[in-house]
Amino acid sequence: MRGGVVTSAVKDGNEYVLNGNKCFITNASSAEIFVVFANTRKAAGIRGLTAFVLEKGTPGFSVGKKEEKMGICASDTCELILDGVRVPEEQRIGREGEGFKLAMKTLDAARPLVGAVSVGISQAALDCAVKYAKERQQFNKPVASFQLVQAMVADMAMQIEAARLLVHKACWLKDQGMPYSKEAAMAKCFASDVAMKVTVDAVQVMGGYGYSKEYPAEKYMRDAKIMQIYEGTNQIQRLVIANAVLY
Ligand SMILES: Cc1cc2nc3c(=O)[nH]c(=O)nc-3n(C[C@H](O)[C@H](O)[C@H](O)COP(=O)(O)OP(=O)(O)OC[C@H]3O[C@@H](n4cnc5c(N)ncnc54)[C@H](O)[C@@H]3O)c2cc1C
Repeated sequence: MRGGVVTSAVKDGNEYVLNGNKCFITNASSAEIFVVFANTRKAAGIRGLTAFVLEKGTPGFSVGKKEEKMGICASDTCELILDGVRVPEEQRIGREGEGFKLAMKTLDAARPLVGAVSVGISQAALDCAVKYAKERQQFNKPVASFQLVQAMVADMAMQIEAARLLVHKACWLKDQGMPYSKEAAMAKCFASDVAMKVTVDAVQVMGGYGYSKEYPAEKYMRDAKIMQIYEGTNQIQRLVIANAVLY
């Protein structure tokens, strides 16, 4: 979601006519209800964005190609096609031009959730690596007894704990009704960076079997990557954090 939305919504009586394509939409093929952002005033940039509720089966509204992805393969991701879709005025969310504000609020709420998923992936990867390291014998000792392996395990555990606490803080602030945009961005960014690092290290601790599909570590590594990308890339999170700190 960004300011330069190309999908248009043109008012026609008490309806809007929507045209455009949306790419990378999670659960698009199984959802019944969708929230779509479209531009009701192109020249107005982000101030022209408006949100609409769309129902599956509305004429002109269809699901396009399914993405073949590196990870999170249990979650489908598809294109959405809007070809002259007529949407009654009652299905507009808020007022015309309020879409960007709504989108930003939605992203704030979604970011700690990506942080939470990242913590879950990281913890699963650590558990898998620890179990393996205790079982796998090299030079007549479990690989868990080697200090270089222990250093990796310690770093993984330490980073996961810090990520978990940041996620908890962002969620707690939201629950208290306090401002939490900065902490939501921090939780998402930090926890997903941790997930990437920890899953790569889990594969390393497990040696060849870390790289094999016989164990889930390689899947965790592939799943971790998207956490750094969606709900705003981690570069964008850093811009949000810097903006909150500086201004
Ligand atoms: C599996 C999957 C599921 C998704 N589900 C949804 C969904 O359900 N709904 C939805 O709306 N979207 C969804 N998305 C889209 C997702 O949110 C975007 O892919 C993501 O926000 C990045 O946008 P982009 O792909 O346009 O990358 P780009 O904006 O093209 O970014 C490319 C690179 O440039 C960097 N970059 C861009 N702008 C800046 C800047 N200003 N400063 C510094 N660096 C910058 C980025 O960090 C990135 O490294 C999904 C994507 C995927 C892959």
